[in-house]
Amino acid sequence: MNRKTFIKTSLSLMGASIVPIPWIQEEYSVSILLGKGNPKLHSPEIQLFNTAGNAFKRMQAAAKKDGILLEIVSAYRSFERQKSIWNRKFKFNQEEGLSPEQNINKIIEYSTLPGTSRHHWGTDVDLIDGSKIREGDVLLTEKFHGKGPYVVMRKWMEKNAATYGFIRPYTDKKTRKGFYYEPWHYSYAPIAIPMLKSYMDLDLKLLLSTSDLEGSIHLSTSFLTRYREENILGIAKELKTF
Ligand SMILES: [Zn+2]
Repeated sequence: MNRKTFIKTSLSLMGASIVPIPWIQEEYSVSILLGKGNPKLHSPEIQLFNTAGNAFKRMQAAAKKDGILLEIVSAYRSFERQKSIWNRKFKFNQEEGLSPEQNINKIIEYSTLPGTSRHHWGTDVDLIDGSKIREGDVLLTEKFHGKGPYVVMRKWMEKNAATYGFIRPYTDKKTRKGFYYEPWHYSYAPIAIPMLKSYMDLDLKLLLSTSDLEGSIHLSTSFLTRYREENILGIAKELKTF
């Protein structure tokens, strides 16, 4: 595999520290980009590409010193897994009486179309503070704000994650379109940036039309064009520096 490392120019994050993000540029196959490959992951506990997993471990060790237990709720997710989530939600919403268009728009508030999830890439994680008592759904915005259990972790990540290469794609910026704010979701930028660059060259319509998805006949060209611009590219600008 042709491996090159590019040192990108400095990166400013929320007006805080300036962090250089080195890209790890490899050739990413279509199957890897769509979650249909069989990527070699760091470990059963850390389901990320090895380099991302190692960076995560360093970040986890630093957080631990500050009394925070970074716990992965979700990392790598295959196309098949995302498809089962999609199809389950689609059928549920259909039974609730939603039209196909309403249904798709509701699902994409939080969930991606299979084949378009950043979780396919082995670079993205959903995190909580494992030192807190776990009750019910954990990935809820209110648990990361106000008096929520994960406020300390969120603030620690906002201050420190970029040092380890982790950046939050789904920010709370009002001008950002696409998926809702996700304070728990982080991307390992050195791999996720060049992966996104490769990803943008793919023909989504062609790939999705052969993927056996509920409602796929309703995915029009105009819908997918908007989805590409607002959802796939509706991320922090630091993650699309190409
Ligand atoms: Zn996520």
